[in-house]
Amino acid sequence: MEQYDVAVIGGGVVGCAIARELTQYRLKVALLEKEADVCRGTSGKNSAVVHTGFNVKTGSLKARLNVAGARMFEGLCAELDVPFKRVGKLVTALTEAEVPELHKLKATGDANGVPSLEIVDGATVKKMEPNVGGVAALSVPTAAITSPFHLTIALAEVAVANGADVLLQAEVTAISGKEGSFRITTRRGAIGSKLVINSAGLYSDHVARLAGVRRYKVYPCRGEYFIIDSAKGGLIKHMVYPVPPKGGPGLGVHLTPTIDGNILIGPSAEYVRRKDDVATTRAVARKLLKEAQEILPAISPRDVIAAYAGIRAKTTPSSVGGFGEFIIEEVPECPGMLHLVGIESPGLTAAPAIALDVAQWVGRHLSLVPNGHFTSKRNGAVTFRDLPPEKQAELVAQDPDYGHIVCRCETVTRKELKAAIENPLGARSLNSIKYRARATMGRCQGGFCGPRVVDMLVNEYHVPLTEISLKGPSSSLFAGEVKDLTCTPQR
Ligand SMILES: Cc1cc2nc3c(=O)[nH]c(=O)nc-3n(C[C@H](O)[C@H](O)[C@H](O)COP(=O)(O)OP(=O)(O)OC[C@H]3O[C@@H](n4cnc5c(N)ncnc54)[C@H](O)[C@@H]3O)c2cc1C
Repeated sequence: MEQYDVAVIGGGVVGCAIARELTQYRLKVALLEKEADVCRGTSGKNSAVVHTGFNVKTGSLKARLNVAGARMFEGLCAELDVPFKRVGKLVTALTEAEVPELHKLKATGDANGVPSLEIVDGATVKKMEPNVGGVAALSVPTAAITSPFHLTIALAEVAVANGADVLLQAEVTAISGKEGSFRITTRRGAIGSKLVINSAGLYSDHVARLAGVRRYKVYPCRGEYFIIDSAKGGLIKHMVYPVPPKGGPGLGVHLTPTIDGNILIGPSAEYVRRKDDVATTRAVARKLLKEAQEILPAISPRDVIAAYAGIRAKTTPSSVGGFGEFIIEEVPECPGMLHLVGIESPGLTAAPAIALDVAQWVGRHLSLVPNGHFTSKRNGAVTFRDLPPEKQAELVAQDPDYGHIVCRCETVTRKELKAAIENPLGARSLNSIKYRARATMGRCQGGFCGPRVVDMLVNEYHVPLTEISLKGPSSSLFAGEVKDLTCTPQR
């Protein structure tokens, strides 16, 4: 049985940030993820916003970690070569009656140490966002957007480069033993670890129970989104939010530009029974569009190219609503295990700061000797589409695979796909390739490039056809071959 100093359960943005942080020290670290890739839970299904912390309860742990995480984000993204854009945010009041709420948000933001907040009038809103209505707005110039997939993957890759083991398809099914000698049983076998970190997101209450800790309950609260075609991406430059609904479990339906040039509409907020219920529904779709059009009338249903949903890990039941506090604690029932529960929004933003706190906790149990070989820098994937023509020509001259566009909607080259397939975590599903190289993310949603990616996997990487899946073993794309595949699709 392989022995570790620290086992981190959960390959979301929080678990991956923790694993990376711990590899700065001479510790043997394992990251255990139940899915076939990292970032398959809530971390891949959110608004991708680096929140500043103007609406989080002053003095709370959440406020401290939000503001600290937001301050670390730009530097971290630069180190990891992950997209980060400080696009700014406008919280718009659609009526005069909503304006006092803007002042309350500004006061909270000022108290939390959020810089440069300003209330602007309707004329300024029009100047900043000509397509958006509103009588006034809270301007939040330091708010930013990122790519949660690239960030989470990059954190895991840096952890691996610095010696951590990332075990995919390793769902934890039992935890026994005690501090110094835990035994963690996974679907891939058992490992031993001195300390355990429960960063299992929505399932953190279940993972805690595996270790005999029964005090937590996580309530799933779904948020549905629409993705608007990048052809309409120019309609807004900033994120545009409504005044948050009072006592509600979400921030209200907002419009968020994405790193890839789309606009997100959403999320809704609805408590659901099952933690894996990521369905998108007709009723919510109508509501999303209606509320989005109140802020941005130029949006039309024809602009929608896809929908998705993410699930909030709430510690407050629907009868209470609102937002709970982040829970990060070791409890007497199980010394040597740290539980992270209720890490809902702004958990993406707070992740780097949470990781620092967790490393301090580890330091109270084991000695933290700096890893002299730690490398924080990472070269991210080349995005051919975004390069100037001279640089593109140079790359094509170096490697003809850069001259071969496989995904036409998103302009993804064969070379970028090869880099995605050969990723250091060994994740090979179509979604793993999509989140690394954008292929199948565009208007045709894979109708054109999907079969070509499959062709590459089968003929160049010798993946058996029946092992090709959308997101892991439970989602195989092919039951078997009906004819000889030596006749490959035309490139
Ligand atoms: C609709 C919505 C919008 C949001 N918008 C934002 C935003 O704009 N900005 C922001 O800062 N935050 C936002 N958030 C919050 C943010 O997404 C989360 O706080 C963050 O992703 C939580 O990360 P995590 O690593 O704790 O959880 P997860 O990403 O859920 O990761 C937990 C991992 O644990 C794994 N796991 C579970 N059980 C086991 C097991 N038994 N064994 C092994 N692995 C297991 C899961 O497969 C999963 O990969 C939003 C959330 C939602 C739902």
